[in-house]
Amino acid sequence: VSQPNVHEIDASKLTYTFTQNPREPPALGITADNGNSICTDHMIIVKWSAKNGWATPELKPYGPLSLMPTASVLHYATECFEGLKAYRGYDGKLRLFRPDCNSERMLMSSVRISLPSFSPKELEKLIIALMSVDGPKWLPCDRAGSFLYLRPTMIGTHSQLGVQAPSEAMLYIICSYMPTMDSPAGGMKLHTSPNDMVRAWAGGFGYAKVGANYGPSLLATKEARARGYHQILWLYGTDGQCTEAGASNFFVVWKTREGKTQIVTAPLDDRVILAGVTRRSVLALARERLADEAEVVERKYTIDEVIEASADGRLIESFASGTAYFVCPISLIHHRGRDIQIPAGKGGEGAPITLRLKSWLVDIKYGRVEHPWGVVV
Ligand code: PMP
Repeated sequence: VSQPNVHEIDASKLTYTFTQNPREPPALGITADNGNSICTDHMIIVKWSAKNGWATPELKPYGPLSLMPTASVLHYATECFEGLKAYRGYDGKLRLFRPDCNSERMLMSSVRISLPSFSPKELEKLIIALMSVDGPKWLPCDRAGSFLYLRPTMIGTHSQLGVQAPSEAMLYIICSYMPTMDSPAGGMKLHTSPNDMVRAWAGGFGYAKVGANYGPSLLATKEARARGYHQILWLYGTDGQCTEAGASNFFVVWKTREGKTQIVTAPLDDRVILAGVTRRSVLALARERLADEAEVVERKYTIDEVIEASADGRLIESFASGTAYFVCPISLIHHRGRDIQIPAGKGGEGAPITLRLKSWLVDIKYGRVEHPWGVVV
């Protein structure tokens, strides 16, 4: 997997070419222009070739990329990406949340699809560099409690048709606005995946954040939305294991038959789910702060177990976790003609454990408390 002895990414060599056409940040709450993402003034690009390794990273004005129609990414889906936010804290500071986790996950994803490896620490430094330049203007101090969305991306640019690992690639980091993903009124409603569709499978690549995982999931999501649901609950295997909710990790809180409260989510070992940074943080916070009242369990569990718990009155909460929503209460799962109702607090705003986990994350991300996960830019 490691590349020959060629240049690594060196963030300390970043060159700066500032825009000659600075734009005005949109008014608070505006996140798109005619349905297109609004990105900040600059982006960072690092080119790679098998021959020379990583070139000098460049910060330059945000703008179109130029690719040959034969570029590897356009044919063989040699693409991976990350998603993380920069938060303007209530203390006025700009923070990233665990950017080291995103950088490491990006390396894992890129290696899975034969894109080049790199030092995650250098990617993290580049993310911070972009935020240092664009953060103060695009997420100013008077916007406490709001965020920008960072999208590190890597693509195979090698322009030779033929199914092979690309020998040229490009890493870039852009920064945009995204709508605040408030929990939908009444809580999130899930529809289980259709019988004939799986998102990911053992031996596949569902654990990597590669574009190839997302395109094929859009059809089921579109159909579920047309029927009034927000996301798909992706089931896996003939026994219907619960894996992920849309592009989020999925949790249930139930009581065992013995009356013990458990916070349950699918395990990582089969590699059919993405190891969410939020999932990992929720698990750590729950283990640290809820140990007296709930046991944290990572195990395979099926939709039938969820139905059974619901029928027994033992299903007490459910939520999705991800960068987009942080922690989002789930109030209903529709499965094969049947509705599973889940307590989700007043107005679907979250039952007690969901709410506490969410508020702990919000407090860290927006600097209400100092925490090592909040990295000040
Ligand atoms: N699962 C999938 C498939 C995702 O795309 C995401 C979003 N990256 C998540 C889970 C949640 O991951 P995170 O908490 O790192 O945003």
